[in-house]
Amino acid sequence: MSNEVPVLKLKRGEDRRIRAGHPWVFSNEVDNDATPLAKIAPGAIVRVVSDRDQFLGHAYVNPHALICARIVGRDAEQGLDRALIAHRLSVALALRERLSREPYYRLVFGESDGLPGLVLDRYGDIIVGQIATRGMEALRTEVEEAVRTVLAPKGLFWKNDTGARDLEQLEPDAHVAFGDVPEELTVVEGALRFVTPLRTGQKTGWFYDQTANRARLTRYLWAGARVLDVCSYVGAWAITALAHGARSARCIDSSGAALAYASRNAAANGLELETLEANAFDAMKALHEQGEQYDVVILDPPAFIKRKKDIPQGQAAYRKLNQLALNLLAREGLLVSCSCSYHLSAEDLSAAIQGAARHTGRFVQILEAAGQSPDHPVHPAIPETRYLKAYFCRVTRE
Ligand code: SAH
Repeated sequence: MSNEVPVLKLKRGEDRRIRAGHPWVFSNEVDNDATPLAKIAPGAIVRVVSDRDQFLGHAYVNPHALICARIVGRDAEQGLDRALIAHRLSVALALRERLSREPYYRLVFGESDGLPGLVLDRYGDIIVGQIATRGMEALRTEVEEAVRTVLAPKGLFWKNDTGARDLEQLEPDAHVAFGDVPEELTVVEGALRFVTPLRTGQKTGWFYDQTANRARLTRYLWAGARVLDVCSYVGAWAITALAHGARSARCIDSSGAALAYASRNAAANGLELETLEANAFDAMKALHEQGEQYDVVILDPPAFIKRKKDIPQGQAAYRKLNQLALNLLAREGLLVSCSCSYHLSAEDLSAAIQGAARHTGRFVQILEAAGQSPDHPVHPAIPETRYLKAYFCRVTRE
């Protein structure tokens, strides 16, 4: 049937990783004599075959990217078309509906949901999407149709401002795909409601990857705790803590706009918090010098390591941040230390925490090592899909 679809042929042996379940084809794996990449249009759909012409998958191509093809389907009879995309979306939705009572979650997490290069976050009847690849960009109309058919939301907004687009030579772009999209999004997490900015917000507006960890926090928290939420964004962690018995909470963030939302969100939930607009490193140092102490410190910084070459500097930054946090903890405290840098391994983060402990004369016990929420499933063949680390630690004195 799909014989008219162009072919992308791999070199001998390069089918192994693909057969093991990995969906990416790197440009040096292509048999350029048989199927010259340069002759394939950006965003084209191809049949990927082995050196012996065995069908491996239907993929989309970007000849200018290092990852030159990403496989979307492995059924030879089912082409890469709107039906396949709608099917993937329905399967993704079925998981989220099982995981959550309320329609607030990451609906599609790229490769992990069989839709490489696509993220869709759900805010009730508003969907916010991000496209990271040229191939997915070429399928945008099909995705929009699938979203309409499967979800029929009030509106879909493309917030295509991820740094990953550079690698695919895609410009940033933000626009309403269809429907009515408000300036502010509403999020329901447990019994709490939040508002968060869309266009000026971080990522799609919310960090659903930490939802499960915020629920975990409530298990370790104790009544009357004084909480410091570092890199708080719109206050999700601090407000969760306050709603579960914390006596006070202070949010530190370099964005005044994010902190204004944190205060608003607290008030809307009948709670109150303090904010500090500052660089986290400077602010924590100053709080320590003022003799401030907290029972709980949450560290949820942005990714300090974006590229492999940033690893040594990044490791030092994580260690420094954890050291500053330990200095602010009371005699017995709880440290929640997170990293969303894929290039910082779980072992590296625990080593940073332990290094900080030695430096400050503290004794740390890891109570739980957690990752991202299950609406960000891990693809077992793709290590990059496992990126978030969260350690829940008891901290006492040596
Ligand atoms: N904890 C948040 C997500 C944090 S995102 C949540 O669960 O929703 C990272 C936040 O760190 C952003 O709000 C950003 O404004 C802030 N940030 C980035 N660099 C910072 C710095 N050096 N000091 C303080 N805040 C910083």
